[in-house]
Amino acid sequence: MSNNIVVAIDGYSSCGKSTLAKALAKRLHFIYVDSGAMYRAVALYFLRNNIDLDNHKQIAEALKNIHLNFHSRDYETHITLNDEEVSEEIRQMPVSEKVSTVATIREVRHEMVKQQQRMGKSKNIVMDGRDIGTAVFPDAPVKFFMTADPKIRAERRYKELLPKNPDITLEDVFENLAHRDYQDTTRKESPLVRAEDAIILDNTDLTPAEQLLFALSAIEPFL
Ligand code: C5P
Repeated sequence: MSNNIVVAIDGYSSCGKSTLAKALAKRLHFIYVDSGAMYRAVALYFLRNNIDLDNHKQIAEALKNIHLNFHSRDYETHITLNDEEVSEEIRQMPVSEKVSTVATIREVRHEMVKQQQRMGKSKNIVMDGRDIGTAVFPDAPVKFFMTADPKIRAERRYKELLPKNPDITLEDVFENLAHRDYQDTTRKESPLVRAEDAIILDNTDLTPAEQLLFALSAIEPFL
């Protein structure tokens, strides 16, 4: 039996999951896996290739042609789609507007979950997403469910996107987050929901350093 440790982090869009996941991975020397980047890369492929989201045969075919790889330098997410670095492009609005619809598709979720489970089989990892503690690693020893005030979340994401997207508005970002949360929590296939054994972490009034300390104290007993 493998005795590696998986830390599962789920929660709403833009509430600091990746900030916490990266900080934990760095501190604990674990591998960080950004599962959202995988759904984003699939959405990018579907956009570029005009995949019809109602055509399940086309979707299944497309999935066979998608090869994703993480290159985990410096604990940032570097992901390739068929050997092309797409880490920046998957953060842009066209992908953000499409990704949650793509993530409702059963075939897409099955393929992503399979790949994610493989990554956590023998290594210590921190993975963030929407279904990590419920569907991908239901037996993970430590699970967090993150949340924060929606206005604060939109402001944080807006500040991140503005330098490269000068035309973006705070309202666009707020609406995109609200829409993704709605789709993520109401979809049929593994919706975003707190696992019963997940620790709630509301970081509205916490600094990244404070949330890291909180999370480390929960993980310590398992190290
Ligand atoms: O984490 P991030 O916001 O980049 O994820 C993009 C989208 O991918 C989410 O809004 C959600 O629809 C989907 N997702 C998912 N399951 C995961 C990770 C992300 O459905 N485990």
